[in-house]
Amino acid sequence: MVYQRPKGTADILPGESEKWQYVEQTARQVFSNYQFKEIRTPIFESFDVFSRSVGDTSDIVTKEMYDFYDKGKRHVVLRPEGTAGIVRAYVENKLFGPEHSKPVKVYYMGPMFRYERPQSGRMREFHQIGVEALGSASPTVDVETIAMALGLFKKIGIGGLKLVINTLGNLASRQAYRQALIDFLEPHFAELSEDSQVRLHKNPLRVLDSKDKKDQAIVADAPSILDYLDEESTAHFTTVKTLLDNLGIAYEVDPTMVRGLDYYNHTIFEIMSNSKAFGGQYMTVCAGGRYNGLVEEIGGPATPGFGFGLGIERMLLVMDADGIEVPTTKAPAAYVVGIGAEAVPTVVQVTQAIRNAGFVAEHDYLDRKPKAQFKMANRLNAEVVITIGESELATQSAHLKNMATGNEITVPLAEIEQDFATVLAQVRGEQRG
Ligand code: ATP
Ligand code: MG
Repeated sequence: MVYQRPKGTADILPGESEKWQYVEQTARQVFSNYQFKEIRTPIFESFDVFSRSVGDTSDIVTKEMYDFYDKGKRHVVLRPEGTAGIVRAYVENKLFGPEHSKPVKVYYMGPMFRYERPQSGRMREFHQIGVEALGSASPTVDVETIAMALGLFKKIGIGGLKLVINTLGNLASRQAYRQALIDFLEPHFAELSEDSQVRLHKNPLRVLDSKDKKDQAIVADAPSILDYLDEESTAHFTTVKTLLDNLGIAYEVDPTMVRGLDYYNHTIFEIMSNSKAFGGQYMTVCAGGRYNGLVEEIGGPATPGFGFGLGIERMLLVMDADGIEVPTTKAPAAYVVGIGAEAVPTVVQVTQAIRNAGFVAEHDYLDRKPKAQFKMANRLNAEVVITIGESELATQSAHLKNMATGNEITVPLAEIEQDFATVLAQVRGEQRG
């Protein structure tokens, strides 16, 4: 029997996990400058949480959900996205209450699950970093949250990005547009893909998002949402564009852009990359927008919201293609070489003392000969090699060698065990006062 990981999943191994940590740490830093705080919600939720919010005509809900009945016959889902669960938590924990300052700004990072056809940048278990700001309808929230996403990519060192925005307007605008779209699409009904035929009356905006080539040719001539915006919707979108201009943030308006989730209104955006990682084609690495009706939909008081999600796997593909280096794990300050079995207890004691003093220390666990231990010290890029053999045991001392400078000293074991920082300064040739 050969065991394999499930299709569309990945093992993140040492060497790779450092990159994940770097992305996650950088996100935490950037988000905390905007006063976003972490929220952790369950990996699985009731099926209804997603069908109600993400929308029961969306691909995610109709085709991609990992849903099942648990032993108590509850219909549950491995979360396909982050927003619905957070809004559920916001309502359930009454974060709308007066003791929580508004907007409530939260971020999350973790696995998401979608039953998709796996390919590069498209997994069945993938990971998102996302944020939600709940409780303000101000376009400044839209703009600053978009700026924060761009700031994260910038801090990581990813360039060549394109910000694309659109508006879906408020409910009244969208209803007017919806009707116009149905009127436009109905004469083409027979030519539409099966999916789009189903969606024409349920959710015609989604036809704009069809991946079907024939559908795309038809919708190329569809009316534009921008011609159906009422005053409020126009004002919101105009302010968003002005604020982006003021901050010097470049963007494109794509009036055909819709999102794969049903809960959006007003501003939506995508950050796209045409990195070599995607064969020079534009691929979305971050997406989000405003969802002013979602909290109410999930049973809370009317509360505006804005958020985004970004795919960590796609971000890492870009980082690798762009040759972005991440800080690697610390090399040992000391590698302790023991000569002979008698040295082992002392080697363990010294190594532990150095670790307890807050330094990285390592020694051999495979009974290697001294020569092989020195080789290992080199391979690990240890700064100092400490040797403990018969003569050192007799004098209760240790021999230290600075691997970069060749500087060598012999010091009492007690000194290493009590104050390794001073010993390290000595072998580095530093003066310590
Ligand atoms: P796409 O059109 O590429 O399927 P989407 O509209 O389904 O994307 P969202 O639900 O908005 O994507 O998710 C936001 C981000 O999460 C995407 O931009 C992408 O970076 C990432 N993402 C989405 N689905 C996957 C997946 N199956 N595998 C890896 N990353 C994904
Ligand atoms: Mg998708």
